[in-house]
Amino acid sequence: MKKEFAVIGLGRFGSSICRALVEKGMEVLAIDIDEDRVNAFSNIASHAVMADTTDEKTLKELGIRNFDHVIVAIGDNIQASILTSLILKELGVKHITVKAQNDYHEKVLSKIGADRVIHPERDMGKRIAHQIVSNNVLDALELSDKHSVIEVIANKRMDGNTLVELDVRAKYGCNIIGMKRGEEIIVSPKADFQIREGDLLIVIGANNDIERFERQLL
Ligand code: ADP
Repeated sequence: MKKEFAVIGLGRFGSSICRALVEKGMEVLAIDIDEDRVNAFSNIASHAVMADTTDEKTLKELGIRNFDHVIVAIGDNIQASILTSLILKELGVKHITVKAQNDYHEKVLSKIGADRVIHPERDMGKRIAHQIVSNNVLDALELSDKHSVIEVIANKRMDGNTLVELDVRAKYGCNIIGMKRGEEIIVSPKADFQIREGDLLIVIGANNDIERFERQLL
């Protein structure tokens, strides 16, 4: 069965989420207080409606409770974002994801009981910074504030070594969970797998262990 999503706020972030969900074949109700933005989505989303989501009655009339997942992407108007999230929670929406503008906003949203609070600008900033400072790091994904997964390109020093020889698990406490060589993907590479310069390694570990791995091996 198709999942039903509602996206509230059709700014840059909300529009992008909305389009991506539609591309994945999901049913999406797009909501915004601004008529022009709603009109722009009338041919993209499954349904597009103009509504002020800080009004409980309106949300009830939209049957918002029946959606599997509601994404609140109201940007600058933090008050409207908080109030909308609170009403969604009170109405018993099963899954609520909210975009936060700053740390204070994030804290309030978590207290209200939003299932997931995202902070795309801050997180993207961190990821890009990581890529910029570490030459061989292609991407970094924070799993929590203590653990990450990073994608690194194997350098000359690693070339020709097997995973056993590199021994990243014992030396750095990290695990290489996957690799990419050209178009080939290797999930859970075996201990005797020989690394070549240019291979993409997917490494999981505690942040301080990953930092050591990056400092000493890359
Ligand atoms: P972004 O930073 O993602 O571009 P914006 O602040 O530009 O975010 O967009 C947020 C959207 O949320 C705007 O289109 C705005 O009209 C909409 N919005 C703001 N308040 C409400 C509300 N009370 N109900 C519904 N939509 C709202």
